[in-house]
Amino acid sequence: MDVTFESRAEPCTIGCRDGEPVLFAGLRAGLTLPYDCATGTCGMCKARVKSGEVETLWPDAPALAKLQRDKGDILMCQARALSPCVLRVPGQVACEGTRVLPDYDQGRITSVRALTSDVLAFDLTLAAPLAFAAGQFAVLSVPSLTGGRAYSMVNFADTSSVLEFVVKKRAGGALSDWLFARDRTGELLGLFGPLGRATFRPGEDRNLVCIAGGSGIAGIVSILEHASASGHFARHGARVFFGVRTLADGFYLDRFDRLVAGSNWALEVVLALSHENSSQPVHPEYPRIKLAHGFVHEVADARLPAACENVSAFVAGPPPMVDGAIRMLIGHGVASASIRYDKFG
Ligand SMILES: Cc1cc2nc3c(=O)[nH]c(=O)nc-3n(C[C@H](O)[C@H](O)[C@H](O)COP(=O)(O)OP(=O)(O)OC[C@H]3O[C@@H](n4cnc5c(N)ncnc54)[C@H](O)[C@@H]3O)c2cc1C
Repeated sequence: MDVTFESRAEPCTIGCRDGEPVLFAGLRAGLTLPYDCATGTCGMCKARVKSGEVETLWPDAPALAKLQRDKGDILMCQARALSPCVLRVPGQVACEGTRVLPDYDQGRITSVRALTSDVLAFDLTLAAPLAFAAGQFAVLSVPSLTGGRAYSMVNFADTSSVLEFVVKKRAGGALSDWLFARDRTGELLGLFGPLGRATFRPGEDRNLVCIAGGSGIAGIVSILEHASASGHFARHGARVFFGVRTLADGFYLDRFDRLVAGSNWALEVVLALSHENSSQPVHPEYPRIKLAHGFVHEVADARLPAACENVSAFVAGPPPMVDGAIRMLIGHGVASASIRYDKFG
């Protein structure tokens, strides 16, 4: 089915597969369509139907509430074309040249491990390697569940046939309930990716500030591993603020410990405990990791210099935390264009 995207640039026409969200078809074709979550919650991928028939895949998608549906507004991530159609997209849509384009794939769950009482990690083993940038995510789908969910890759390698994911249990959440119900080793998952622009570029001549709540740390681990492997910490500092409720909720601390040791202290990691007041300034088991009490963006606010210079910031986690962290960073002089974020809403 042909779909034409009109914007402030030349119109682009691409072919959609049967039942495929028009966003995914456009991204597969290399178009620079706007999106953040690609899963129906952020509303960034809105477009207006000028002609043709479009069906909404998930009528309860939260971001639909923000649209003027009577005027033909749709979410491209939740719309499939039922006839050839023309969509008007805000801004400019161009065809991107050389970067890795997202596509469909499948992988098997291997190596499931519990990181805390409500956080699981697993590997997804693909038949062929996937190239992705540190900080990117994939939309994963379980055959028995409707819709896809976004998860950030934790590992980093230029290309890898093993993708590492971490999932925080969400009360009543369909995919997390499915994953936590029993050992899912060997199960097949669908994947669309890689996606996301909140990525680390190793050539950037900047210090890093990373702020994450809970499983928001996933993409930030990938960014730090890439930064470490590319020698970034020999020239630049990085400050990581990782927010969890209590000491027992912290995970990947062994990884952070190794990264701090390997960075020759260019990397500082602070574990912010929102629901526990530790009397210790450092983690009892991993003394290279500092401890603080409070919400993660408030802890970062108190510890960052009044004026942060030459900084790229990465923020990921629950939407209120991300919004608070972005406001805080701007207050510390970080330009909004230098803040890359993923809202797990
Ligand atoms: C860019 C990004 C990266 C993320 N990375 C991580 C991560 O690394 N680890 C992590 O734990 N979480 C991550 N999340 C959050 C994650 O995508 C899920 O929202 C969360 O795991 C809860 O999923 P659930 O199925 O348990 O909950 P549910 O409440 O069942 O679903 C949550 C989300 O799934 C989608 N969805 C639900 N029902 C439907 C439907 N019928 N049709 C279509 N879509 C539907 C929607 O996007 C919804 O918001 C990320 C989110 C984003 C946007």
